[in-house]
Amino acid sequence: MNTILDQIVKECREYTAKGHVATYIPQLAVADPNKIGICVVSHSGETYCAGDCFDKFTVQSVIKPLILLLALMDSGPEKVRALVGVEATGKPFDAFNYSDLALTGAHINPMINTGAIALCTLIHGESYDVKFARLLELTRKLAGNQEAELDRAVYLSEKKTGSKNRALVYMLKAYGMIDDPAEELLDCYFRACSILVSCRDLAQIANVFAHHGRDPLSGDRLFPKEFARYVNATLATCGMYDGSGEFALNVGFPAKSGVGGGIMGVIPNKMGVAAFSPALDKRGNSVAGIRMLERLSQSLELSIF
Ligand code: GLN
Repeated sequence: MNTILDQIVKECREYTAKGHVATYIPQLAVADPNKIGICVVSHSGETYCAGDCFDKFTVQSVIKPLILLLALMDSGPEKVRALVGVEATGKPFDAFNYSDLALTGAHINPMINTGAIALCTLIHGESYDVKFARLLELTRKLAGNQEAELDRAVYLSEKKTGSKNRALVYMLKAYGMIDDPAEELLDCYFRACSILVSCRDLAQIANVFAHHGRDPLSGDRLFPKEFARYVNATLATCGMYDGSGEFALNVGFPAKSGVGGGIMGVIPNKMGVAAFSPALDKRGNSVAGIRMLERLSQSLELSIF
């Protein structure tokens, strides 16, 4: 496996020059576009790595499946489903050009910003500080990494410049979908996106989703099977935003990308995988990351379709 991964990194390195690091969050612009890493965590918990597999980067949108999971665990699938739908939008992750007369839950899904921000309101906690602390705790638990921490510089950078996300929150409020104080809600979302992870962390998290909520090593059930099914299904249809269809066709497993350059991939009943490379395509997905997962899928026949 290590030989396959080394070869994939070698062959895909050229793609790091074909994208651009995110700049709309100023602190993300300092990322090194030449970084590239891949990790596989197998059914029996073995970890295989190549390239910059232990480098830290901010999780960004790869936190969305965990926000959805915690909302499901705290508030149940009925409330989650009533607030946020499950249909792919075919639009960018931060789109606010909803042309419908009234925005409803049916127009959004948990993997775009509007849906993920709305779902933060269904996480339990007497304050947004507590909600964030619980989300961080869940991330640490699923990643098997108690050290996962916040990147304060990225968090403050997004907090200062996140006008589009502010607009989305006020849109949700304008349509009566949420009631909570906008800045506190946004602060929780910005902090959630700024948790530092590595490829290894993401592959570990993906492996738990691949095993339907069970830690394959200890056998411990970390969350109910039905919630893994809910999350994995939305990853398959919406996880790569307006590139989800193409990803399903070319790679073929549930996955989630983030503008920090990470992508996690869930191979049901088999393994968790993750790729990292900060240079992004126009949809905000890692260019080399997608290529690496495509090659991995081809060589190990991982497409579920
Ligand atoms: N924090 C980012 C944002 O809200 C996450 C987006 C992403 O990773 N696609 O814009």
